[in-house]
Amino acid sequence: MISREKLKESRLTEIFSSKRKFATFLNENEFVASPDKSRVSGRMFYLSNYVLLKENVKRAWLNYFFTSEDGLKTKLLDSPILTSEGVLKRSGHLKNFVYLAKLCKNCSFRVKEEVVKCLNCDSRVFGKPKEFSLLFRTEGSSENLYLRPETTQGALLSLPFFPLVKDTDFPFLICQSGKSFRNEITLKSFIKLKEFEQLELEYFFLPKSLQRDPELNFKEWIQKTESFFLFLGFSRQKIRMNFLKKEERAHYMVSGCDLEYFDSDLGWIELASISYRGDYDFRNHMKVVGANSSLVKLSPHLVEVSIGLDRLCFAILRSFFFEKMVQVSKKHRLILNLPIFLAPYSVAVLPLVFVHRSYAREVFRQVKKLGIMVKYSESKSIGRRYRQQDVIGTPWCITVDDISIREGSVSIRKRNDMSQKRVLRSELGKFILEAVHLPGELEKKWSKK
Ligand SMILES: [Zn+2]
Repeated sequence: MISREKLKESRLTEIFSSKRKFATFLNENEFVASPDKSRVSGRMFYLSNYVLLKENVKRAWLNYFFTSEDGLKTKLLDSPILTSEGVLKRSGHLKNFVYLAKLCKNCSFRVKEEVVKCLNCDSRVFGKPKEFSLLFRTEGSSENLYLRPETTQGALLSLPFFPLVKDTDFPFLICQSGKSFRNEITLKSFIKLKEFEQLELEYFFLPKSLQRDPELNFKEWIQKTESFFLFLGFSRQKIRMNFLKKEERAHYMVSGCDLEYFDSDLGWIELASISYRGDYDFRNHMKVVGANSSLVKLSPHLVEVSIGLDRLCFAILRSFFFEKMVQVSKKHRLILNLPIFLAPYSVAVLPLVFVHRSYAREVFRQVKKLGIMVKYSESKSIGRRYRQQDVIGTPWCITVDDISIREGSVSIRKRNDMSQKRVLRSELGKFILEAVHLPGELEKKWSKK
């Protein structure tokens, strides 16, 4: 029998007490599969709820930066992952993206020079340290091709394809998201992977036509990045800006700054990097873009904002949970406090018991027609289904019971305080649209009623 003390114990503290427990929790709730193994493999298997969260974060990012009222010209890009050797030679990656490592004599696993025990097989016998590249190489038909180590180069190579001829075409912004690849050896689930997704903004401008210090552009993008993280729902206390010293900057940076997030277990981790790359990349790619001579004359500078999507979603899962003590049961409930635009599902439709099923399915179809992501669930007790939705962050649950069928209504339950109200089916559509598009106003009305 479970003791009363045990029931009162905080579930949040329990789950966050070890990496293994957090990983198991994420697996049980269909966020991520076997995250433990990824420490060695550097690749993740994201499951339904994580994939939906990731898609929503990406959409929020695009919405935030791609359109704006200040008249900044914006462009969207999806450039190839396979990159030719010449490009990475010119960008400096071929020369600079290297590290010293040694191979395990038993299983050939690659580890850092100072490591004494193989991370894969525990053997202690290694070969001599040598230089390895962070780049993944493969064969093209006439030359070596590489999986891109960053999305930036694609944006630079795309410049001649946009009609940029006059200085008035600048400044402009290219938004691109996609996977990049680095053959890292020190791996950590979510944080350091061989295959990861980036959300990148490339802001091209002409320093000559500016009446001010180009570093001010860099500072503006630092602020915009910070505002975006606050918009997502991060608290100001949990993020900070870390300006990079000269020796900490990558080979292409004139100035650099990391946006870091504080995790109770891992400390400060980098979620985004803002770099002023000057005309470093442009100068190096001049030969390729040379065909467009007006572009060469303009020689644009670049400020880049690169957000690690895997890390960002991880930080959301680490910091958006809160716990609520339910008075009746004296149990702690775990709630993922996502804003509705990030929640995997905006709404869930749940019949109270089996006999309410066909009416609930009708309600589900009614809600789905509104074009939002809605979850239908009918197995297990209603209490368990509420808890499942709380844990994956579904803000609203619509329950169908006897009264619903009699009155033509539904019962709506709010995630964060578990309060419930009845709404007529004829007004359900209006309610949902308000929940999605005007969440602040609905919140005010809800607490007044
Ligand atoms: Zn080994």
